[in-house]
Formats: sequence, structure tokens, C-alpha cells
Amino acid sequence: MKIKVRNPIVEIDGDEMTRIMWDLVKEYLILPYLNVDLKYYDLHIKKRDETDDKITEDAARAILSHGVGVKCATITPTEERVQEYNLKKAWKSPNATIRTILGGTVFREPILVKNIVPYVRSWKKPIVIGRHAYGDVYSNVEMRIQRKGKVKLLFQPEEGEEVAETTVFQFSGPGIVQAIHNLDDSIEEFARTCFRYALERKLDLWFSAKDTISKTYDGHFRSIFEKEYRTNWETHFRQAGLSYNFSLIDDAAARVVRSEGGILWALKNYDGDVMSDMIASACGSLAMMTSVLVSPKGCYEYEAAHGTVQRHYYRYLKGEETSTNPTAIIFAWSGALKKRGELDNTQDVIAFAENLERAVRETIESGIMTGDIIGMAESIPSKKLVSTQEFIKAISIRLEDCYK
Ligand code: NAP
Ligand code: MG
Repeated sequence: MKIKVRNPIVEIDGDEMTRIMWDLVKEYLILPYLNVDLKYYDLHIKKRDETDDKITEDAARAILSHGVGVKCATITPTEERVQEYNLKKAWKSPNATIRTILGGTVFREPILVKNIVPYVRSWKKPIVIGRHAYGDVYSNVEMRIQRKGKVKLLFQPEEGEEVAETTVFQFSGPGIVQAIHNLDDSIEEFARTCFRYALERKLDLWFSAKDTISKTYDGHFRSIFEKEYRTNWETHFRQAGLSYNFSLIDDAAARVVRSEGGILWALKNYDGDVMSDMIASACGSLAMMTSVLVSPKGCYEYEAAHGTVQRHYYRYLKGEETSTNPTAIIFAWSGALKKRGELDNTQDVIAFAENLERAVRETIESGIMTGDIIGMAESIPSKKLVSTQEFIKAISIRLEDCYK
């Protein structure tokens, strides 16, 4: 008897090696156990091209209406890809399109197993990074200054005459200048999503910025978080035994390294970009990192943090067997199933997701693993390098044991 998943999950297929692994994961680890209505959207690069990328928007809207989605990695076309796949044009990044429709924040979390010790030995629990994915240096304007002169910042209100201005710098020779911005609405939404996610996941929340130097800009981020906490979350956090604290980014960076983990670290756009890559590589491989987009509209999209693993795919096309790691893809599925189960209040679905995750961890902990992590893993128990297929097969044997 298969487990019935009460409401649909939006399934978004993708490209290259991750598409190959996606099928195997479904065939061996999902479909044999679950009776689930998958709303399927194929974001293969050729399908996006055929539909003038309408399929990507349809997929995002499907997540809005069903609440939970799981996505395979997709190619973001470059000029090279336009040639390779003979595309009409270099379509936008699907993740950017989906994020524009759903809004929200991406949380990235490493998957820890006992025999792969993070390079930072004090880390016992995952450090989840919440990155504010709007504004700052990612939508900056910048200028080269070639000669003497003054740069000013000027605000011109749409109504009324009064203009605010301030001098940025009086240049006496060549230099550079940059302006960045952010929006109260976006920061408030980011803060709310972080508090909600920390509470759901029972994690302490840290927010860090540099408000001693940037008193107005970073100071504003800090006060929005502070106000949001006092107004809407303090009581809930207290009841759950959780804490919120602000700290300076440099101070937090130093403390994170000494912590045992188990925190949600909320960061501005650039800090989040840098720190999430640092945490990922300190924990092992990109293939051991999951990612979830939490939308303020109440929906969730789960995926692996890595891309389509193009180099492995070309080897696969030549008929070679690859040892690509499907762990983050499997955790994207288990994350989506767990959330579906929580929203539907179906314990058997939640239990299945947990059993699936345990089967993956125990497989790796028994020494069976893929090429990307074998070099970092401890040598007891003895290690065995396997192909992607063999790895998934080994997981499925453990999973079968739970449902005999
Ligand atoms: P990538 O697919 O993340 O792969 C980079 C390298 O990391 C691989 O060549 C491989 O190293 C290693 N790696 C990543 N995932 C692995 C896994 N599951 N198992 C084993 N090794 C793994 O990044 P990319 O090559 O820069 O990007 C390829 C395509 O993915 C691009 O077209 C890009 O647009 C797209 N992309 C999509 C997303 C998304 O949809 N979320 C995110 C990022 C990139 P070795 O080759 O050394 O083994
Ligand atoms: Mg980055």
C-alpha cells in the first residue's frame, strides 16, 4: 500500500546531469512508496525556448496555488548555451523568474553526516544561511571619475519642490563611485520570513550587518529587524526557548566559527552570497547543500544548491558511468514532502520524508559514497566509491527495509 499524499506537489524538471539523477530518484525512491499528484512542469532548456519561457512563469504560479514545489537545477543560458542548444535567445535565469513571482528568501542548509567532519571542527549542527536577495550592490549604479570634480547624491521627490542632497566626495583626481539602494518593504518581508523560518525550524536567529560604520543604511536594516521582533515574534520565540540577536558582521563571523551551529544566520545580500559559499565548502561539497525559497505568500520551493553538473553530463553522454552525488536532490524531495505533510497534517508523509533522509545518511555513514565526498570522509568504516546508480540503489535497499 502506497502512502497517500493528500495535496499536490509541483514538480519542476530541469537540465543535464541533474535531470538524469532526477529520474532515478523518482523511479527508485519516490514513486514506489507514494501515491502523489505531481503537477509536472518541464523546464528543460528546449521547452523554455519553445514556450518563449512561459512554462517558467506557469510553474511559479503553480507553486503559488499549490503551496509546495520541488525543482531540479536548470541551465541559465549564456551566449555559449544559445549556440549549444540553438535557442531563440538567452532566456532569463529561471530561478530569478520564479523568485520574482513568489518573492521571499532563500535559505541554504548543509546536510551533515557523521563520517564527514566539517573543516570547522566545532560545527555539530547545520548553520542555515538566509540571504536577502534584493538590492545593495547587485542593483548598484557606478561611475568612473576621470578628473577633478564633485560627486553628489540627490533626491528629487515626485511631488513638491524640495530636493535633498549631500556631497559624496570632492575628487581631486581620478577615482570610482557607487550608489546602492534598498526598500523598507523588501527588508520587512525578509525579516518576517527569517523570523517565521527560524521559529518553524526551531533555530536561534542571528542578524548581522555593519551599523557602526553604516549608521543610516545598515542601521535601518537593524531597526527593522528589531521592530519586527518586538512587535510580532518575541513572545513566540520566548515560548519556543529561542533567541534573536543582532551582532556586527565581523563579530558574528568570528563567533560562527566557534559555535556548534544550529542557528539561522540572516544576512544582507552580499554578506549572504559570500558566507553561504564559505559554509558550503567548509561542510564538504555543494552536493551536500539544500536550498529552499520561502515566500511571504505562504509557499515553498525546494531544490539542490548546485547547478546542472555540466561536466559530468558530457561524460555521461559519452557513455561513461559517473559518480555524481544526488544527495541534495533527494533532500529537496524530502524537504518538499515534509512541508507537504506539515501543511496537510499527514504524519505518514512526514515519517516517509524522515526515513528517506535517514536512508541517505546511513548509506553514506556505512561508507558507500560518491566521488565528490569520498576524499573528505573518514576511513572508518572503510569507504567504497560507487556510481550514481549504485548509490541510489543502496539507499533504496535501506528505504525498503522501513516499509517491509
Ligand atoms: P555546478 O553544476 O554546481 O557544478 C560545478 C562543479 O561542482 C561540478 O563540475 C562538480 O565538480 C561539482 N558538483 C556540483 N554538484 C555536484 C554533484 N551533485 N555531485 C558531484 N559533484 C558536483 O555549477 P556549474 O558547472 O557552474 O553550472 C552548470 C550549469 O548549472 C550552468 O548552466 C548554470 O547556469 C546552472 N546552474 C543552475 C542552478 C540552479 O538551477 N539552481 C544553480 C547554479 C548553476 P567536478 O566537475 O570537479 O566533479
Ligand atoms: Mg555566490
